[in-house]
Amino acid sequence: ADGHTARRDGLVVASHGRHCVVETPEGERVICHPRGKKSQAVVGDRVRWQTSEDEGTIEEVQTRRNLFYRQDEIRTKSFAANLDQVLILIAAEPEFSEAQLARSLIAAAAERIAPVIALNKSDVVAPFERAWERLAPYRRMHHGVLPLSLKASPEVDRATLMKLLAGKTTLVLGPSGVGKSTLTNLLVPSARATTAEISQALNSGKHTTTTTTWYWVDDERSTALIDSPGFQEFGLNHIEPMQLAQLMPDIAEHAGECKFYNCTHLHEPGCGVIPQVTSPGHPGPISPSRYRIYGELFAELRQTRHR
Ligand code: GDP
Ligand code: ZN
Repeated sequence: ADGHTARRDGLVVASHGRHCVVETPEGERVICHPRGKKSQAVVGDRVRWQTSEDEGTIEEVQTRRNLFYRQDEIRTKSFAANLDQVLILIAAEPEFSEAQLARSLIAAAAERIAPVIALNKSDVVAPFERAWERLAPYRRMHHGVLPLSLKASPEVDRATLMKLLAGKTTLVLGPSGVGKSTLTNLLVPSARATTAEISQALNSGKHTTTTTTWYWVDDERSTALIDSPGFQEFGLNHIEPMQLAQLMPDIAEHAGECKFYNCTHLHEPGCGVIPQVTSPGHPGPISPSRYRIYGELFAELRQTRHR
């Protein structure tokens, strides 16, 4: 084929609206737009693209291993693909929302992406201890919680995080104020410059706060961080209510013991989950807050289905 119009491989490293920045295997970056609806790409997508005029056109998005969603009040939108893990960053302060934490873990589980929870600001002792205590159910679950103090011990944390991230693509999520930019800047010293460059390329100063961005952590380009601003509401609408229990490991562990195969674990006789919930005078492996979150989400998902 004519070299000018030949399709080339690329990786989507930023996206905003319909436009995205595609990186070539040689490290060159080109602004692209999709050929059509089917070639709409998100950060982390591997694409086939070709040049037309001064912009590129995405012809094809390669099959995704997974896809992460967020939702605003109106609709669910995908924003990152092909992840190896999700790093959920929370902090001793501001106080974290357990419901938000649970939702992001469920979103990750639904896409079979391994989650890591990190609790930053361990130097703020009393709030840290309270947060650590609140995280007891999460520390008991498969993932554990990684304590960090990105400001007090940046070099120690850097080494820990590098080991955790090596060779993987990691999406970093967290509410504002927890130290997300501190973490990104610690691992990717050029992050600020990259963000500025991308905003300029996409032609608006506003993009810095709304663009999901891919950063290479190493020169070999084998380790990557994806930073997505804000702790959005996660799109869980694509999850079936009856699938929810399987996405919460502490509840899933007892859901196989129920008498009815279609047990919702909310009121049924012979339910294996309900007796495992801690209540006054009755300690159990499922924390009341986790069970409450399950119930609230179940109702929310069911309502979405019936809308
Ligand atoms: P972002 O909003 O999540 O991007 O958070 P930033 O990285 O901007 O950090 C928010 C605030 O928390 C800043 O004032 C940081 O200096 C502070 N901060 C970050 N890490 C730590 C930490 O380990 N300990 C303490 N005490 N403060 C921290
Ligand atoms: Zn049950």
